[in-house]
Amino acid sequence: MRTEPPDFRLGSVLATSFTGTLSERHGEPVERIPTPQRLVDWLAEYDLAVDPCTPAQLDRARELRESIHAAATAAAAQEALPAAAVRVINDFSTQGRAAATLTPEGERRWRLTAASRLEDALGVIAADAIGIIAGERDGKLALCASPTCRAAFFDESRSRTRKWCDMNTCGNRQKKARFHANQRRNRTPA
Ligand SMILES: [Zn+2]
Repeated sequence: MRTEPPDFRLGSVLATSFTGTLSERHGEPVERIPTPQRLVDWLAEYDLAVDPCTPAQLDRARELRESIHAAATAAAAQEALPAAAVRVINDFSTQGRAAATLTPEGERRWRLTAASRLEDALGVIAADAIGIIAGERDGKLALCASPTCRAAFFDESRSRTRKWCDMNTCGNRQKKARFHANQRRNRTPA
């Protein structure tokens, strides 16, 4: 029987959605881009259409992903950025040759070059990470309150009080856990 790969959790922020393709880093990690094709599928969700890629390219993409995760986690905790992670992010950003274009509808679309589509797409992600870590965007980097997750996410809520990287998974699980804990407490006579 063929098992389906884990589904994507697509957020509104490109860089932290990308780091979210590995979830439950402090529990039982879930790899959401287990194959080169899943990476291609994920990028397509963000309008970054690339050619089929190789396992080596998938490894490179994961290297960028973990570097963004490390840098974003440090930034959220207001700690010094890890130098190695910064170097990797900068390398990807400078290697990308994507150009921003404007659609007739007034939306930005990335144009990737034929020779280096995947590298261009990863460059776009690296630049997005730089934008949020540098504090250029309206929002705040924070760490997910779930102890098995601790993902860095970008809080764009007006109050900046979001606690979970994803409401449907981490947020929901936490709420359920609290509900059960309350029930247990209520059953115990005071
Ligand atoms: Zn989480």
